[in-house]
Amino acid sequence: MRGPAQKRRGIRAQMAAGFGIFALCTLALLWVFQIFLLTPFYRAIKTREAGRISRQVVKELDSPELAPAAYALCAGTGASIFVSDELGREYVGYKYGFRESLAYDLTRRERAALFEEVNLMGGEYTRIFSDRLLLYAVTVRTGDGNHRLVVIETEITPLESTVETLTVQLLCLTLILLPLGIVLAVVISRRIARPIMEINESAKRLGGGDYSVRFEGRGPREVGGLAETLNFAADELSKTDGLRRELLANVSHDLRTPLTMIKGYAEVMRDLPGENTPENVQIIIDEAGRLNDLVNDLLDLSRLQAGVLELKRERFDLTESIREILTRYDKLADFKFPFEPKESVYVVADKLKISQVVYNLINNAVNYAGEDKTVALSQEVMGDHVRISVTDTGEGIPQDRLRDIWDRYYKVDREHRRAQIGTGLGLSIVKNVLDLHGGSYGVISELGKGSTFWFQLPIDKGEDDDNESETAE
Ligand code: ADP
Repeated sequence: MRGPAQKRRGIRAQMAAGFGIFALCTLALLWVFQIFLLTPFYRAIKTREAGRISRQVVKELDSPELAPAAYALCAGTGASIFVSDELGREYVGYKYGFRESLAYDLTRRERAALFEEVNLMGGEYTRIFSDRLLLYAVTVRTGDGNHRLVVIETEITPLESTVETLTVQLLCLTLILLPLGIVLAVVISRRIARPIMEINESAKRLGGGDYSVRFEGRGPREVGGLAETLNFAADELSKTDGLRRELLANVSHDLRTPLTMIKGYAEVMRDLPGENTPENVQIIIDEAGRLNDLVNDLLDLSRLQAGVLELKRERFDLTESIREILTRYDKLADFKFPFEPKESVYVVADKLKISQVVYNLINNAVNYAGEDKTVALSQEVMGDHVRISVTDTGEGIPQDRLRDIWDRYYKVDREHRRAQIGTGLGLSIVKNVLDLHGGSYGVISELGKGSTFWFQLPIDKGEDDDNESETAE
């Protein structure tokens, strides 16, 4: 993993290269356009202008206004204008001021020869003489069938000195732009790369287990966002790590308590024959049962969270199964468990897992029950869903903890709570089982007054005696 990553170029080098290439491309384009293409551009523009003048002359060829029109064009544009017939006989000829004019000075024969040449070239012809004169000629047929040669001659400015000036300017520009680009690249890349490098350092520390590390999000917005996300991740990791440590402490404590009891009672029963009573054996069985429950909880949760647990969905009477569960609390003689459902409700779900949800909720309610030692259960049909609620009148849960209690290992009162009450896994199992079923769940609680934990499942309305035929979800 490391090798290729190290071979890759860093942000700085990449940005410097990017800026460098950008500056070079800009300069190269400037060179191409200003130096090499300036002359062709200029000549193309001049040729277009000559073409435009010639078209205006051609328009007037048949009219008596030809001479004044040509004169006006000559005066207006500074171009020499000349019109002759195919034999070189002059019709109109104007030149601007005292300017030298090739076309104007042509002999009649030369004009006739030019006519032929232009005709041969397809009726249009452009030529530049000594880099100073642009001769544009066309041959046309007038309305009465006669041939005419129209010659437009314009002066073109020699561009050498301009090009030379531009070359020097561009050289200066290159000398300024290149180092400027590199300096800018270094400055900007440092602004971007520095915070990323810092974040990388912090991330390494986080990876090494230092959850107190903070990520500084200086520089661009995205880096700020990254730092924020990483800070959040670090907080979560640290929270989970804290809970994990606590669980380890809890679990070892919870495992040790029943084990000590079992060992103690077994030893007493071995050494003192009189102690070999059914009551003592029952204590050993109960403690072993608690151990078993704890280990099962842990296994269940890890299986639920690893997503390997498959639900064994079946259609069953939820009301009846809650009644069954309640019979097992009979031995808690001083507790009352009122449950008065109006009807039997069927659901399609994993019976064992849903029973576990109900167990966990009742167990919590028993553990945190109030003076009245009552855990009230209720079943409400709400449209196509059934809601089961477990209510106690115990100490309640502070509002700001209501969200956390569903987290794994979470216990509201960590310091001096009866350790035997639980591991903080119960509600996490409830949450995972209901999530897997797509059911909803929640808690309403008021400090000092008690809590109501509820969950909802879709009702299966199939025939009551019909098994696993329909799925409600
Ligand atoms: P535990 O095994 O500790 O009961 P749970 O995940 O079942 O773990 O519950 C998490 C925490 O939520 C408990 O430690 C307790 O602080 C709080 N809690 C759960 N049920 C109740 C309840 N009925 N009344 C008051 N607090 C409760």
